[in-house]
Amino acid sequence: MRRFAGSCRFIFNRALALQKERYEKSEKKLNYAELCKLLTKWRNCEDISWLKEAPVHPLQQTLKDLERAYSNFFAKRASFPRFKKKGKGGGFRYPDPKQIKLEPSNSRIFLPKLGWLRYRNSRDVLGRVKQVTVSIRSGKWFLSIQTEREVAQPLHSSNTMVGVDVGVSRFATLSDVTVYEPVNSYRRQEDRLAFLQRQLSRKQKRSSNWQSAKARVQKLHTKIADIRRDYLHKTSTSISKNHAVVVMEDLGVVPMSKSAAGTVVRPGRGVRAKSGLNKSILDQGWYEFRRQLEYKQQWRGGLMLAVPAKNTSRTCRSCGYVAKENRRTQAKFCCVECGYSQHADLNAAHNILAAGHAVLACGESVQQGRSMKQEPTEAILALSV
Ligand SMILES: [Zn+2]
Repeated sequence: MRRFAGSCRFIFNRALALQKERYEKSEKKLNYAELCKLLTKWRNCEDISWLKEAPVHPLQQTLKDLERAYSNFFAKRASFPRFKKKGKGGGFRYPDPKQIKLEPSNSRIFLPKLGWLRYRNSRDVLGRVKQVTVSIRSGKWFLSIQTEREVAQPLHSSNTMVGVDVGVSRFATLSDVTVYEPVNSYRRQEDRLAFLQRQLSRKQKRSSNWQSAKARVQKLHTKIADIRRDYLHKTSTSISKNHAVVVMEDLGVVPMSKSAAGTVVRPGRGVRAKSGLNKSILDQGWYEFRRQLEYKQQWRGGLMLAVPAKNTSRTCRSCGYVAKENRRTQAKFCCVECGYSQHADLNAAHNILAAGHAVLACGESVQQGRSMKQEPTEAILALSV
């Protein structure tokens, strides 16, 4: 499997190098079909004949990945495709269901050129198998099985609507007063990570001591990421289970200055990633959080609304007065006009909820159409908005 993953990496890098070279010579970029033709040629080359040992479909899928990386770049969704590095994850994908045999009851799967493999089941595989991805993470191999099935449009079991404010000191504050504290898994492991990295730097590169020190560093990175992901899933699941409509600020348009104020979000370019606040920001994963909420709401027949992040932390929930001075400290909100006082994040969550109500009631514009893809279901229309 390592060899197959290595072959895929090789093909990806080779194709990318070729595309770059063509670009420098002002030649047209090769498309997927043309690259596939080249792949056949490469597989017949004498000096890289080991490529033949790898299954051909996963190699083609790698070219597809490169194609996608390019179109993401041109659509300004991602930076320019980079070369894949050895020893950093990796994997390969089987796209043809006809070549895959899955026997969940026996915990085994048949994959081309690998034969029958045993695996440990983490969840039921529902629906028809579409494709299988084999990947490695911190020395462990994983199978991801993509399936397809029809599901009836679900009706959300709850009929409440909630505003969610995300921030640094409190991970998420809900307008129904629920508070989720941040886990900051990176921060908590920072010292240990620094220690392991120091050890790694003292070893002779590529020696066996170096290899095992590197594995320890990698393992800790994996652990940090696992803790974070686990927490994000638990939080988004519980919110999505309890509320038919979830309203969040549109994270994409929040200006950078706001994160300095402590409410949020995307660390822009040129920001010193080392500053303490940004470390915390990177540690939170609000984008992933929102992404999870979005699809989990769709699963359950709920709705996730993104509202413009405008003055949500400065507006008084009680009288609507907007002023920077309303927010006395990071945590304290106190209106200079009417004297209403509340935790700043809770006040913001209420404003977000109100903005959500406005969107549903009078069809006010929603940022990023993606969020409105799903029509409000009956459960939502039944709300007292
Ligand atoms: Zn007020």
